[in-house]
Amino acid sequence: MSGMQGVKHVILVLSGKGGVGKSTVSTQLALGLKELGYKVGLLDVDLCGPSVPYLLNLEDRDVHQCDEGWVPVYADQEQKLAVMSIGFLLKNRNDAVVWRGPKKNAMIKQFLTDVCWQDIDFLIIDTPPGTSDEHITVMESMRSVKCDGALIVTTPQAVSIEDVRKELTFCRKTGIPILGIIENMSSYVCPNCSECTNIFSTGGGQALAEFAEVPFLGCLPLDPKLARLSEEGQSCLKSMPNAPVSESVKSLVEKI
Ligand code: ADP
Repeated sequence: MSGMQGVKHVILVLSGKGGVGKSTVSTQLALGLKELGYKVGLLDVDLCGPSVPYLLNLEDRDVHQCDEGWVPVYADQEQKLAVMSIGFLLKNRNDAVVWRGPKKNAMIKQFLTDVCWQDIDFLIIDTPPGTSDEHITVMESMRSVKCDGALIVTTPQAVSIEDVRKELTFCRKTGIPILGIIENMSSYVCPNCSECTNIFSTGGGQALAEFAEVPFLGCLPLDPKLARLSEEGQSCLKSMPNAPVSESVKSLVEKI
């Protein structure tokens, strides 16, 4: 079965800026849902900067073709976490994707129609930062499937919050429900003395959520262990227990 026929729920992960932790949150969300017992798909449509294969230590894996389409890469033996990314299709991992809009759009459409996701409970779509061609294609494709909504990732800095406002407007214009905002890298918890330091300003994500009347799903601290595991491509081990993503996952699942 190829395409989205067997996909029960779709969640888009958006951010106004790059580097705020969108792929980390997408990966943690997928792992958290898998740990709750769901079958999950993780689609990386960040065509110019695909980082999901790296975060899940799947960089040496290839996508195979079957009669019905592309077989995604499974991150685990039980085949509960299926992953698709342009990173699996590049001949050389260092190749740059220098494509104009129409080619990118065709690739994204193919990801949504030709991948054999099978019966999965949740498809998490990690989008590129901003509100570009890729987003419009994803949003258009979502009209024919049931998209539960978008999860918006920000950091607490004003400059990131400003971009999130644009993301909120984009969702409203395109009719995608906003599931909530996650504030990433909000504080730093010292691994030695457990003292919590707010490196950037605080409360921006929550204030914006209140202003925009959308749910605030929690803060994810700047976690040296998460950073190290991501660097080593070991986020595949399991979701981080202190990440509010795991709490947010539960509250998200209840809402959906
Ligand atoms: P984006 O997808 O928004 O570009 P990434 O998820 O790739 O951002 O994250 C950028 C970098 O920040 C990565 O190296 C990642 O490991 C690190 N990072 C993201 N969130 C956290 C966090 N909460 N704690 C520690 N490191 C983080």
